[in-house]
Amino acid sequence: MKSFELVQPATLEAALETLPAARDTKARDSVKLLAGGQDLLGELKEHLVAPDTLVNLKRIPGLDRIEHGADGSLTLGALVTLARIENERAIRERFTLLAEAAGAVASVQIRNQGTLGGNLCQRPRCWYYRHEQAVCIKKGGSECFAYGGLNKYNAILGGGPSYIVHPSDVAPALVALDAQAVIRGKRGERRVPLEQFFTLPSEGSVLRENVLTSEEILTHIVVPAPGAGSWRSTYLKFRERGSYDFALSAVALRLSLDAGKVREARLVLGAVAPIPWRCEKAETALVGRKLDAETCEFISRLALEGAEPLEHNGYKIPLTQGMITKALRKLAN
Ligand SMILES: Cc1cc2nc3c(=O)[nH]c(=O)nc-3n(C[C@H](O)[C@H](O)[C@H](O)COP(=O)(O)OP(=O)(O)OC[C@H]3O[C@@H](n4cnc5c(N)ncnc54)[C@H](O)[C@@H]3O)c2cc1C
Repeated sequence: MKSFELVQPATLEAALETLPAARDTKARDSVKLLAGGQDLLGELKEHLVAPDTLVNLKRIPGLDRIEHGADGSLTLGALVTLARIENERAIRERFTLLAEAAGAVASVQIRNQGTLGGNLCQRPRCWYYRHEQAVCIKKGGSECFAYGGLNKYNAILGGGPSYIVHPSDVAPALVALDAQAVIRGKRGERRVPLEQFFTLPSEGSVLRENVLTSEEILTHIVVPAPGAGSWRSTYLKFRERGSYDFALSAVALRLSLDAGKVREARLVLGAVAPIPWRCEKAETALVGRKLDAETCEFISRLALEGAEPLEHNGYKIPLTQGMITKALRKLAN
């Protein structure tokens, strides 16, 4: 591992001072933000990144706070651990799918250490990206090796020119909750709907997965109050290993029901696309329907419309359709 300087700022302003200007393309990757280190330390050890400076965010006060607003909203600091999101009673009761998604991440040890901000900003798990010697398109090369190679775990929706899937479990749940990302830069704060925080490889830069520039820090996530009606939600994840593993497919579903019929819906898929994949057509089609077998069949097909599997990941289509049906049935009862 290359030697680096560890900077430990005590304020957000001091942390921002250490960050290189976004237009300085040479210096851009010379500084990395460190939260729980569960992803970044792996990247350093595997020589995927070699920054000159690490900026430890953990001494900045306030970023580890969970706040329940009087209006029913929820504000989570970027340093809140996944274990706290999983275990806090009020989150389990009012934002069930978020607690379920946080609890589905990795192992207890990783959830105790890993933070919300780090989970949302973690880098892809595609094994070509993670292989030190594979200079794939995500690392400045010219080709996505997964496209014509071993692509069992890669994207079936929204892929090209890179076919990574976004690895976060928490991201689809937060998109389904209409959450907003609060971002601080040297010139002030901006808020971005989380759905627009993540970027497709065909938009913006293929080297990044979100809208953050090198001079910005994700500070908070704000989840609005669930709104009128009787809302229920769930996060279902399918993985190969029972102990802990990244998802092969995941479904974040949130519904408000009125007399047994859907009033409003959010359906977001994980691990099938380079971003949390919102199924707006399926959400609209759900409105006014009873959650019977016919609806489950129709919605699960509609949600996967346009999917283009690669050579080894066609299984993700029936798998995801089955998971959507399971989630709809779960919330119907
Ligand atoms: C064995 C293993 C299994 C895993 N399984 C899963 C899984 O099943 N599901 C899942 O979702 N994840 C999984 N993960 C990923 C894990 O959840 C993330 O690595 C962890 O949540 C990252 O959080 P962290 O605080 O440790 O981030 P760090 O490693 O400190 O940071 C991760 C990245 O985010 C950036 N970053 C961190 N905080 C901020 C911020 N506030 N603003 C801007 N950038 C920031 C860092 O610069 C770095 O690039 C797994 C990881 C491992 C090692």
